[in-house]
Amino acid sequence: MSNLQEEKTEKIDIKSMYLDELTDYVKAIGLPAFRAKQLFSWVHEKYVGDTDSMTNLTKDMREKIKEDGFVVLKEETRQVSKKDGTVKFLYKLYDGQMIETVFMRYSYGNSICISSQAGCRMGCRFCASTIGGLVRNLSASEMLEQVYATMRLTGERISNIVIMGTGEPLDNYDNVIRFIRLITDEKGYNLSMRNITMSTCGIVPKIDELADEKLAITLAISLHAPNDEKRRSLMPIAEKYSIKEILDACKRYFDITGRRISFEYSLVKGQNDSKEDALELAELLKGQNCHVNLIPVNSIEERNFEKGDNNSIQNFKLVLEKNSINVTIRRSVGSDIDAACGQLRRKYSVNI
Ligand code: SAH
Repeated sequence: MSNLQEEKTEKIDIKSMYLDELTDYVKAIGLPAFRAKQLFSWVHEKYVGDTDSMTNLTKDMREKIKEDGFVVLKEETRQVSKKDGTVKFLYKLYDGQMIETVFMRYSYGNSICISSQAGCRMGCRFCASTIGGLVRNLSASEMLEQVYATMRLTGERISNIVIMGTGEPLDNYDNVIRFIRLITDEKGYNLSMRNITMSTCGIVPKIDELADEKLAITLAISLHAPNDEKRRSLMPIAEKYSIKEILDACKRYFDITGRRISFEYSLVKGQNDSKEDALELAELLKGQNCHVNLIPVNSIEERNFEKGDNNSIQNFKLVLEKNSINVTIRRSVGSDIDAACGQLRRKYSVNI
């Protein structure tokens, strides 16, 4: 595998290139600059799955692109929900790595949840994606392909992207930023920044760096606890950054971008879902321009975390509402295929 990876890094990755880089590439292979625009359109506006479809390019150019590296994801398998049409795709990467991508249909349009890494090194206790550790970062093209391949396979357009699948996006910062800039390029797929949400476990310096990019995306913070002690018991990253440091970074993010922060809070029975926890959380977030998304924890085979009953979840929500905090309970889609995030990947991969 390491050989393949080495081979890959030497290759040119056309789908990860900005238009100006593509222009340099096209010129370097002796072609006129206008070819770059045509190529960019095939890749990002028409999101074709093979170079042969690029009919206004010469045969030689198509061959050259194919040879140089045109990243396309292969569907390994899929699970389709009989309840709501949610589809979980398992895609195979060039080196045999598997990643999960979830396609969801909502009344306001189709949404996709993409992975940013193969595996993850953040170690959150309740999360399946982190059990085998980090294998490698995904390239921008591999993130783009999760969107493009899914549109080719479903024949439907995608209007919302959440970077909430396997991986910590701020741990693969450059590639994720490149992905966001490419998918929102007006000469390409032209998705609105506002329709992108990035979820992070809270790497403080990277939140500041992200704020300075001034992208109008929504930032979601995985908080999961009302105080540092509880947070440390669920998330190793809490040893590094305190909740106060995270909230200060969120405030700076809001001041710079004007974008309201979302907080994710996975409710784990007996650990962070009591009335006291809700009150403490309300106190913590009082006065912040934010939104709290409650997620009843998905139990995974390897760990025995349980979700609370409906009553306790509703009561938790009520306490926050009484304290004027915007709160929703995440609608569970695809509950009949709900091997929690990362479980399908684990099932199909040998060594994780
Ligand atoms: N690394 C990023 C994004 C990946 S996970 C982050 O930490 O935000 C997306 C969200 O799902 C996170 O809030 C994560 O904590 C949560 N999550 C992971 N496993 C879960 C599980 N088994 N049940 C409920 N939420 C889970």
